[in-house]
Amino acid sequence: MAKFNNLQSLHDHLERHAADYAGAHRISSLFEAVYKLKEAEGKRNEADKALWERKFFAVQYEVSEPKNWCDHIVADFDENTYDYAATRLENTQNPILRARYAHVLWSGPNKVIAHARIAIYSYLEAAKVYEQKDCSKPNERWGLEVIFAILNAYGLAIRTKYRSQEVKVEVLRLVRHFNPKSSWSFRVRQELIEVVLEDKRQFGRTKLAGLQNVCWRLAGIGMKIKNGGRVHDAIDMLNLGEKVDKRLGQTSHDWNLRRGKYYEILMQMRKAGDPAVPSFCLDAIENYRKAGKTEKVRSLEAQYAELAASGRFSKVTVRIDQTEVVKRGRELAQKVAKWQPHKVISFLIHQQELFPRYADIKKRVSAGNIEPILMDMPSTTIDDRGHASRHFSTENERQHRERVRMYEQELAYYKLPVIRQVLFQSIRNGKLSQETLNKYLQQKSWLGKTLCVKSPTHGMRPYRWLDLLEASFDSYFGKTLRWLRDGTNTPNLVLEIDSLTLKFEGLLRELLGLAGVATFRLKRQDRSLTEERYVGDLLYKKEMRRLFGEDDLFFLQFLLSEDAGYDLRNRVAHCLILAEDYSINYMHLLLLALLKLAKYDLAQNNEIVASRNGSMFHLASCTLVRRILVKNRIALPNSRTASKKGYAACRVCKPEHPEPAKHPRTETNGTQHVLVVRT
Ligand SMILES: [Zn+2]
Repeated sequence: MAKFNNLQSLHDHLERHAADYAGAHRISSLFEAVYKLKEAEGKRNEADKALWERKFFAVQYEVSEPKNWCDHIVADFDENTYDYAATRLENTQNPILRARYAHVLWSGPNKVIAHARIAIYSYLEAAKVYEQKDCSKPNERWGLEVIFAILNAYGLAIRTKYRSQEVKVEVLRLVRHFNPKSSWSFRVRQELIEVVLEDKRQFGRTKLAGLQNVCWRLAGIGMKIKNGGRVHDAIDMLNLGEKVDKRLGQTSHDWNLRRGKYYEILMQMRKAGDPAVPSFCLDAIENYRKAGKTEKVRSLEAQYAELAASGRFSKVTVRIDQTEVVKRGRELAQKVAKWQPHKVISFLIHQQELFPRYADIKKRVSAGNIEPILMDMPSTTIDDRGHASRHFSTENERQHRERVRMYEQELAYYKLPVIRQVLFQSIRNGKLSQETLNKYLQQKSWLGKTLCVKSPTHGMRPYRWLDLLEASFDSYFGKTLRWLRDGTNTPNLVLEIDSLTLKFEGLLRELLGLAGVATFRLKRQDRSLTEERYVGDLLYKKEMRRLFGEDDLFFLQFLLSEDAGYDLRNRVAHCLILAEDYSINYMHLLLLALLKLAKYDLAQNNEIVASRNGSMFHLASCTLVRRILVKNRIALPNSRTASKKGYAACRVCKPEHPEPAKHPRTETNGTQHVLVVRT
């Protein structure tokens, strides 16, 4: 990567080459380098500007809300930054840069219509530039940039009624003629046709005519691409085409029949025993039924009965009917995937239905109702290498072992199939991605906030846990998405699982530290030295129960440290897992475990905090807040909301008129941390 000694040289470079960067975040990292350089040189003014540009370009396109990217950053703006953006706009002719600066200026409090107009035609120009790029390099991410540019142009044009006709024509042209050989060929159409279908006022029925044929044709092309084609994309295309038909009040193709065939192909592409197969089978049956192909329906139903009866898992083979589980998973997945990303992530954090209930398990074991499949389990746990790792001799130990066992069965047969479908569907629809997860964590969780550590040599050093985690998520989401699209090779997640598993010790230690619990102990050999507690230790501290409650805590223990459970931390650290046993299920559970830790956030001093079951509200800085149990502390947006919810203002801290925040809440400094739950 080229090095730039100052802002001017970087600006000159971008003037000529901005279009060479797929994803504004790449431009952002150039500014980051300049920022660090100027910071080191002590040039405050230039460093500030570079920092602003870094943030400005770091905001990326998001599938769910491509038109609102500006909203995420204008909160950080003041007059100076607007002045700076205006100067940058004057000094650049590059359409990509012009579109971005003009758009952000238009999003500010002082609306100048000229800025919206500049943004509109610059976005149009940028879309063409990126379309060219895509033609020469169809496998890179230029298609995404095309979507980004055209949707932004569209959003602004409709709102300001400027050049809207031209933009609409351009949208329809892209749907019909965007490079069919591009790897973005499907995605561009999906995004744009969705807009066309949704905006009934802008796109009347006459404008839609023929789009259904584009979808039909593309679905066919999708099936011909080598390596088994892109079957899921092809199916999405059929769904879209059918929607277009519905709007037009016609049936121009047999969508159901073709969809049935595609699902059947998906079934055949997967290996026997792949847990996705029963779900594809149900889809095929449903579509063939609608298409009136009774022969097909009957033969597939027979196949399905066989599939459902043979749920195969690594340790025991049992016959369990998973029909209902698979069905419930599909329904839930479809429901969840329609939500906004932040709601999806919040659901994954706070819901309890995806996991076994500890109280149920406990009741079933103590009542002596041990399931037949558990009866002949030995009283010793055997690790992956066949060594006896623990004996269970006392009655209590046996009961505990049985609980863990039962939890495992419950999780594997009834919960994981649902978890898989919810996560896969959310990933496929772009609701769960590196971008959406990062954004959520930055806004609502301590994992995305900047903390500080005092180092004897470097003074105060800022750090974020997210920086240690995001590489694993990035590649997990990337590999999973590719797999869901192509459907051939199961992703290899050894690196991601290893890395995430080992981070939990630090995460738990930090979280307990933030909750005010000591996480080190005196060394046995020398009581004047201390050592940090390890993960098994941390998970059994009584404060953990207060932070997480019984269900979440048992899940964390089961996943990370129970030797009759998955025991990932021990098995990863001591290399006891064979490559083929690195199941994607582990990755799913690690993600959910991490989200359990993510439910807490740090409050700023002037934020409003109340207790879930108390009657008063406080400033976060109030000493009385520390008496509220961490898991009951909820952050409220302002004192008005608190009053509306029936809370009375505290007389000690007088929270009715808090001072306005000096900094946006993404940065915390120093020692005063108050953990809260954001609802
Ligand atoms: Zn108070």
